Amino acid sequence: MRFDIISTFPEFFAALDLSLVGKAQKAGVVDIRVHNLRDWAEGKHLAVDDTPTGGGAGMVMRPDVWGRALDTVLEEGAVLAIPTPSGKPLTQRDLEALVQVPQIVVACGRYEGIDARVAEHYGAEGIRVFEYSLGDYVLNGGEVAAVALVEGVSRLVDGMVGNPESLVEESHSVEGLLEYPVYTQPREWRGIETPAVLFSGDHARIRRWRRDRALARTADRRPDMINALVEGGKILERADVEVLTSRGVDVRTGRWDYSFSVAEESDLSEVAALAARTFPLACPPTATETEIREHIDTHLTENAFRELTRGGASITTVRSGPELVVVAYALCEPNAPDDIASLSPGACYVSKIYTDPEFHGSGVSGALMEFALADAVSRWGSTAVLLGTNQSNRRAIRFYRRHGFKKCGRRTFEVGKRIHRDFVYVRDLTVDPPR
Ligand code: SAM
Repeated sequence: MRFDIISTFPEFFAALDLSLVGKAQKAGVVDIRVHNLRDWAEGKHLAVDDTPTGGGAGMVMRPDVWGRALDTVLEEGAVLAIPTPSGKPLTQRDLEALVQVPQIVVACGRYEGIDARVAEHYGAEGIRVFEYSLGDYVLNGGEVAAVALVEGVSRLVDGMVGNPESLVEESHSVEGLLEYPVYTQPREWRGIETPAVLFSGDHARIRRWRRDRALARTADRRPDMINALVEGGKILERADVEVLTSRGVDVRTGRWDYSFSVAEESDLSEVAALAARTFPLACPPTATETEIREHIDTHLTENAFRELTRGGASITTVRSGPELVVVAYALCEPNAPDDIASLSPGACYVSKIYTDPEFHGSGVSGALMEFALADAVSRWGSTAVLLGTNQSNRRAIRFYRRHGFKKCGRRTFEVGKRIHRDFVYVRDLTVDPPR
């Protein structure tokens, strides 16, 4: 792989003799040749620039000087790379394409840049011209951008990076995510612990943890990358959907539509309305309409929720859409009811978690569950959580299992005059759920 860099500051490229690129040069894996543009300048002052035609500030690099330089250096099959803030933002995909070509010639601009006819001429001659930008900011010259391109392409050349696996897992790899956070020794540094899951030796859990972190980080820092994944249908796993939902993304529409919060007094009427809408859907078929209505009128009113929060319960909600409507809520209590508390002494309790049916399968329930439990841990220091669910509610049971809950008992309770049977589930809150 050959690089030719043409610049008015050839000394700048001493940096390419260092580190891996330096080693690769010595090993003959890459051949980097640096040229001084002034070698092709003429006249007493070896000028490479002149005033901008049509007026304006600064100076522009002359096409005739660049023409002489490029005619000498360009070889068959070369790409002419021209760094410029008005170019296409350089991406990993570009580097992957560039590593396939035999020669890359980088033309480093200075001043206000290179006369536009240079790119036009070589393009018309059939040379692939790649005008690229390092980002939305302006540097003084193309040298930094040239080093970035040479280093970025070089590390993709076979034999450059010791462990080629590391190229697959990186930020901006074909996965389209930023990399997960990385850690090394010591295990605790300045009071900050390395996440325990990384010591578990459980490769599936570590993989899931890393993917969760990569998704969350990408959603927070690079919404554009998440949108590209969603559009490309690349969010495949259910757990992916929940992580993205927890960051606000509706993966069904690609819109950034969700907000999670702890409910305040003013939210309670909306919570009660949602509770009244969703409760009947989760009732066993044996429950009569009158029984259901009675339960709603007694336990799911705004006042009932107010009493619960005054008694120490915490309600968390998910809002969605332009009107920010409450579409899901969870109600957690610091202690489980007496009939099941002994199954996990000290555990907090998820008393209710309901999602508007329109949002079933959207990841909202899972994301809300994790949000509500994180709230319980920070609020009450809970290390375990209990909940009960009707024995016939298969969907809920599957959901709790996926979220790390294990069956630990049974209970019965009455709605009206009818006896209902629940399974009781527990989850250890000191470890991440397996998912
Ligand atoms: N007048 C130019 C404009 O507004 O687009 C900026 C010229 S800049 C001061 C001089 C040279 O620095 C450019 O020709 C280019 O080689 C390089 N340069 C500056 N910012 C860059 C960036 N973000 N990406 C790539 N090259 C850049």
